[in-house]
Amino acid sequence: MKLIVLGLSLGSSWGNGHATTFRALLKAFAARGHDVLFLEREVPWYAGAHRDLVDPDFCRLEYYPDLAALESWKDEIAAADAVIVGSYVPDGVAVGRFVQAHARTSAFYDIDTPVTLAKLERGDFEYLSPEIVPGYDVYLSFTGGPTLDRLERHYGSPAARALFCSVDADKYRPLDVPKKWDLTYLGTYSPDRQPTLDTLLVEVARRCPDKRFAVAGPQYPDDIDWPANVDRIEHLPPVDHADFYSASRMTLNVTRADMIAAGWSPSVRLFEAAACGTPILSDRWDGLDQLFEPGREIMLADTTEDAIAALREDAAAMGQAARANVLAAHTADHRAEELERHLNEAMNKKGERMTHTTRLNGKLTLVAGGAGFIGSHLCAALLAKGDHVVCLDNLQTARPSNLRELESHPNFEFVEADITGPLPASVADRAHRFGRVYNLACAASPPQYQADPEHTMLTCVVGTSHLLRLAEQAGARFLLTSTSEVYGDPEMHPQQEGYRGFVNCTGPRACYDEGKRAAEALTFDYGRMGRAEVRVARIFNTYGPHMNPDDGRVVSNLVCQALSGDPITIYGDGSQTRSFCYVSDMVAGLMALMESGGDGLQPVNLGNPNEMTVNELLGHVLALTGSTAAVEHRPLPIDDPRRRRPDIDRAKALLDWEPRVPLAEGLAATCAWFAEELGGAGGQPMVAAAE
Ligand code: UDP
Repeated sequence: MKLIVLGLSLGSSWGNGHATTFRALLKAFAARGHDVLFLEREVPWYAGAHRDLVDPDFCRLEYYPDLAALESWKDEIAAADAVIVGSYVPDGVAVGRFVQAHARTSAFYDIDTPVTLAKLERGDFEYLSPEIVPGYDVYLSFTGGPTLDRLERHYGSPAARALFCSVDADKYRPLDVPKKWDLTYLGTYSPDRQPTLDTLLVEVARRCPDKRFAVAGPQYPDDIDWPANVDRIEHLPPVDHADFYSASRMTLNVTRADMIAAGWSPSVRLFEAAACGTPILSDRWDGLDQLFEPGREIMLADTTEDAIAALREDAAAMGQAARANVLAAHTADHRAEELERHLNEAMNKKGERMTHTTRLNGKLTLVAGGAGFIGSHLCAALLAKGDHVVCLDNLQTARPSNLRELESHPNFEFVEADITGPLPASVADRAHRFGRVYNLACAASPPQYQADPEHTMLTCVVGTSHLLRLAEQAGARFLLTSTSEVYGDPEMHPQQEGYRGFVNCTGPRACYDEGKRAAEALTFDYGRMGRAEVRVARIFNTYGPHMNPDDGRVVSNLVCQALSGDPITIYGDGSQTRSFCYVSDMVAGLMALMESGGDGLQPVNLGNPNEMTVNELLGHVLALTGSTAAVEHRPLPIDDPRRRRPDIDRAKALLDWEPRVPLAEGLAATCAWFAEELGGAGGQPMVAAAE
């Protein structure tokens, strides 16, 4: 395969463990017949004399000066089979977004997982942010165990897999040198490791003056009182490591606090010491026993006494067993094989996802109006499908409680904003990441949209324009939810999409009807001009849970009034007709339309053709609730359409879609939901059994 890696460094091992890790892994990976390109950000501290690998023979190594320069690698990134971004890559979040937008399969390789997660938790997004985790097809981690679960469940990674460090078995092997020390430790000073080093080595040295010890590594403070039988080696170059281990009867493995907390985080030193056949005395952490068998391949110690007891044992066989284990499972060749397996798995899964879902290259789905009645159900369905959803809503008519169940979903984000204004930076700044834009943002109930008609008109026209521009910039597909109101008080029945409508452009409904007609015009213009791929749904009356009890529409009014025993308001004589579609059917229709083929340059009616009068609807509501509330007739609102019923032949043909939920079922679910919302409303009869 062709693999591109954007890692912290391959060219310089100066002050970082990444270069040696990448060198070993990619060399072994290339040896398996793969083509590797390493892209490294040019930074002054890894340049000049600090560059200790200039022209690797196992891969191409190229430098890019800054983020903007990555643009020139776009085609190569798009052509690669997989692209890996490593931890600590400068501007890692932006690099990650760029890679996710262009690569066929992307992976994050975290050589510092516990550090990364601690950073994410405190809001430090130096090289990774929670929002881009789901966009990586696989998260490869130096830490295994429950951390992988956390990455998948909490952060929404589609697949988190362990890819531990490994050992270079050519460099780390037993050497025939005399034993100089009984117990050694090789490692840079670290305050969190020092107490263990004190307990398991320094104090042991004090109590065993006849034995010899060594501590190799830089940065130990001058005030440490080393016993006389401890040799201090300030700098031990890697070429001398095998010699050091081979001269040790036993060596100590001390783990950093964050690695102990995470568990399942073997250090490279652990594998290197084992590869030299040196018996290892280790501190204790979860997962260690799954790598080395305690008592057979490794010894564990908590106290000075434990360490002294270990020194008394003849542990040579243990060293050999640990070495055999490392050679069988922890060399760079093993890691390269695992990497190949994980990438293949990600590529295959990605292939499946691309044919089954809209989520291309980890793209985001924007749902404007996502906190509203239909919008909240749409968000839930998109999340269930695996989309990463950004919900934008001004909460004008929506209820935040509609999002209660979605808020904790790792792939869900809520942004409070009004689309009549410029889109907020949290959306605009990552425009390129959106793959789908749904526009459901607008008050849709007659009393609500007439309450602030100017805002309604601007939401339809200016708001839609803002979202269309976003879709154009993103290269995203855009879906407008238009309305059956574009047909006005129709003279054609049922209404087909070809019917041009009978709208009163000067009446109180015009702000919505004409607003949506203008929004349609704008959307189709974008589509015709090739500025965005567009879809337009004309939504007919829809009902279900999450309707606002104060919404003012007929289903919510009648159900709430019936449940609470308030007078039931019927406008006019109740002989006007509507056709009511249950919300889950509507959401399925919207998603099917979004993903449908064709040029999208024709509107599609979505609704349930099951037409009934308002009086008939009332009959169903009364039967279901057992309510005996009185009916109060009110004047018919101006321009209230007399009849409405969708012709859904186009939706059937184009989307293979039609409503499935019968009124009795949908209404029962709706009544039950409102009954719960209203909290049992004053002892009035509650929902009777569904018909
Ligand atoms: N309606 C009614 N009582 C109400 C609310 C609405 O009789 O409490 C009537 C309204 O006049 C219209 C029909 O029910 O004829 C549907 O109204 P809704 O507000 O649900 O939406 P519309 O279809 O008019 O957009």
